[in-house]
Amino acid sequence: MYKEDTIAAISTPFGTGGIGIVRISGDNAFDIAKNIFRGKTDFDKIRSNSIKYGKITDPKSKITIDEVLLSKMKAPDTYTREDLIEINCHGGSIVTGTILELVLRQGARLAEPGEFTKRAFLNGRIDLTKAEAVIDVINSKTKESTKAAIEQLEGSLSVKIKEIRQRIIGLLAHIEVTVDYPEHDIEEITGRMVYDELKKIKTELESLIKNFDKGRILRDGIKAVIAGRPNVGKSSLLNVLSGRETAIVTNIPGTTRDIVEEYINIRGIPVRLLDTAGIRKTDDTVEKIGVEKASTAMKDADLVIIITDVAEGLTKADIKLLETTKNKKVLVLINKIDLATDMQIEEMQRALTKYGVVAVSLKDSTNIEEIEENIISIILSDEISQNNEILVTNIRHKMLIDKALQSIEEACESHENRMPLDMITIDINAAAQHLGGITGENASEDVLNEIFSRFCIGK
Ligand code: GDP
Repeated sequence: MYKEDTIAAISTPFGTGGIGIVRISGDNAFDIAKNIFRGKTDFDKIRSNSIKYGKITDPKSKITIDEVLLSKMKAPDTYTREDLIEINCHGGSIVTGTILELVLRQGARLAEPGEFTKRAFLNGRIDLTKAEAVIDVINSKTKESTKAAIEQLEGSLSVKIKEIRQRIIGLLAHIEVTVDYPEHDIEEITGRMVYDELKKIKTELESLIKNFDKGRILRDGIKAVIAGRPNVGKSSLLNVLSGRETAIVTNIPGTTRDIVEEYINIRGIPVRLLDTAGIRKTDDTVEKIGVEKASTAMKDADLVIIITDVAEGLTKADIKLLETTKNKKVLVLINKIDLATDMQIEEMQRALTKYGVVAVSLKDSTNIEEIEENIISIILSDEISQNNEILVTNIRHKMLIDKALQSIEEACESHENRMPLDMITIDINAAAQHLGGITGENASEDVLNEIFSRFCIGK
C-alpha cells in the first residue's frame, strides 16, 4: 500500500456555486476533521460512509465558518483507498477557501492537480486507463463522448489490453522454456505456433487502432466543411444548424469571403462547421484568398457538405467541385426545393445517386433533421450501432498500441526470415512493455507525473 501525507483540496470548480466540496485524504484526515467539525454526534462515533450535519469551527478562535454536511469514509473502501473526508459547504471561493485554509493549518498539505486520483492508482484501486478516463469524464462536453469515457472507466480497454498482454507474456514464457530447457518434457512450441498467435494478436491490435478514429470523433468531434457555389445557401445552412445568426447571409455572390466557423452539437457529437467562400475561378484577390482557404479546409475535413441549388440544376461548377472531393466523405444537399417542382428535384436526385443526398429548403427549414441524421451516419458509417466495441479515445493509448503493433510486426518478419525463436523474443518483449504502459503495469514515474498533472486539483 502506498503511504503518504494527508492531502486536501477544493474539489468543486472555481467560482460561485450552490455547494462547494473540500476533500481530505490520508492518515490524518479523521483527526483533522475531528478538530474542526462540531455536530450532534461525537466525531469518533460517526459511522463510516455516513453523512452528518454540523458546523465547521476554527478550534483556536472558536469562530464558526459554515454549516456543512460532512462525509466520513474509512479506508480502504474509498476513492483513494485512504481515510477520506468530504465537507459539503456553501459554494463560493470565500467559504471553501477559508475551510481549506483551516484544514491546511491542521496539518494537511494542498493536493497537487490529480493527486487524489493518483493515489487511487498507486493504491491499486484503479489502473491507468481508468485514471485517464476520469480526466475525460471531467472534461467531456457531450453525451456520446461521456459514454465513451465511462465505458473506458469501466475498463473495457484495459481488460482487452491486459488479455492481449497476458497472451504475449504467455508466448514469451513458452518460448523461454523451450529454448532454455529443451530437455524438459514440455511439448515443443514450434515457430509456426508462435507465428500464428502473433498474427492473431496483430489483427486485434489493428482493430483497436482502427477504432481510434471513431473514438477521436466521439471525443473531439468532427470537422465538416460546407462548400458550394456562391448563393447556394452555405451561410444559411450554418445558421440553420447552429440556430444562431452568426454568419452574414446576403444574396450578393461572394460575400462569404473568409471562412466562418461554428461549433454545433449533433446527437451528442461535437461538429465544427466551416462555411467556405464559393469555390470557383475568380480574379478578385480577396475572394481568391477565400477560395484557397476553402480548398485547404476541405483537405483535412472529416466531411464535406456540398450544397447545390435545385432551381439552377447541376452546373459545371457543381460537378467540378464534386470531383475535388474524391476520397472524402461527402454529403450533397439539394437546396431551395421550395422554388422547384417535384420533377426538378427528382432529376437532381438521379444525377447525384453516387452520393448521400438530402433535398432541403434551408429557407423554410425543411428536412433539417435528415441533414443531421446523414451527417452522423456518413461520419460513423453506421458502425456506431455496435455499442459493445472498444473505443480507443486517448492518443497516448493509441501511440502505445501502435508501438506494440510495430514490435509484433517485426517479430512476424523475423520469423518469416527464419530467425531463431530467442531472437524473436526481443520484439515480443517490447510489445508487452508497450501494452503494459497503457495499464500502468510498468509505467515510469515520469509518465505517471505527466498524466496526473493534467488533472484539475481536487479530483
Ligand atoms: P451562400 O452564398 O452559399 O452562403 O448563400 P446564402 O446562405 O447567403 O444564401 C443566398 C441566398 O439564397 C439568400 O438570399 C438566402 O435567403 C437564399 N436561400 C438560401 N436557402 C434558400 C432556400 O431554401 N430557398 C430559397 N428560396 N432561398 C434560399
